[in-house]
Amino acid sequence: MTIDVNRMGVVGGGQMGAGIAEVCARAGIDTIVCEADATAVQRTRDRITASLGKAVDRGKCTAAQAQGALGRTTFTGELDDLADRQLVIEAIVENTDDKTELFAALDKIVEDPAAVLATNTSSIPVMRLGMATGRADRVVGLHFFNPVPALPLVEVVTSLHTSAGTAALVEHFATGTLGKTVVRSRDRAGFVVNALLVPYLLSAIRMTESGFATPADVDHGMELGCAHPMGPLRLADLIGLDTVAAIAESLYEEFKEPLYAPPPLLQRMVEAGLLGRKTGRGFHVYEQVATENHRG
Ligand code: NAD
Repeated sequence: MTIDVNRMGVVGGGQMGAGIAEVCARAGIDTIVCEADATAVQRTRDRITASLGKAVDRGKCTAAQAQGALGRTTFTGELDDLADRQLVIEAIVENTDDKTELFAALDKIVEDPAAVLATNTSSIPVMRLGMATGRADRVVGLHFFNPVPALPLVEVVTSLHTSAGTAALVEHFATGTLGKTVVRSRDRAGFVVNALLVPYLLSAIRMTESGFATPADVDHGMELGCAHPMGPLRLADLIGLDTVAAIAESLYEEFKEPLYAPPPLLQRMVEAGLLGRKTGRGFHVYEQVATENHRG
């Protein structure tokens, strides 16, 4: 029998973590979001409040439901506050060392040995994070898509150690509780969607890097010629160029295929702090500079 999750936590309240916390709170779950420091905690609170405000404006929920979701959400800078959670979803930066360290810490903090520790990683092996804990059978990938309140897909990623019960619990949570649709993937860098998507994004970056076509023409080509809602460079800007580079590095490390190697232009843009929409400039310039998420 699969248990219902009533108390969950999210670590990392950036664009993904905030979205995950919002959908959980809107689904009626007691949700705690943990960020790195007080400034980031406030940024996450503002982000979720603004997103709920937009949901009300668009008629996706009532003002009372938005208020209820905020009331069910606790914002903290203390990882220890996650001790009583049944499920914790990690959504910090795409960095293996940071995530491994966090999983080791969560394993000690989250008291119920049956509690599940999930990762929203886009490309880091779930096994690597599971092995940092003493409960690799309770560690699983739960990969949401951006923006989380709008996109219906979640990839469930099981490592060689993930138990069938853990997979069933998160699948029930994603579909039954959050109303998402699940696809299942083995624990290979990129899982299903990014293993297909990222080489395409990198090809678009190489195309503009070589002077073959401008970013605007690359994007218009795919939007108007293939009916994609967003061209590849706008999509890379939305994901965040630091995240795209980190995913490409993980894919390249895993498969050693040149098509996964991050192009020099992408690396230089990340070094320059041109991370896309979240810093106001990437392959395109954005009017609303979302400096709240810029880690400098
Ligand atoms: P982001 O940069 O917007 O947010 C990351 C957040 O983590 C930041 O707010 C940062 O302060 C916080 N953080 C870092 N270390 C922390 C720690 N030790 N404790 C608490 N908080 C910490 O990144 P994002 O786009 O939200 O991506 C987060 C994860 O989700 C990554 O693993 C990424 O690969 C994955 N992901 C991203 C997308 C996307 O489209 N951006 C889609 C699916 C999955």
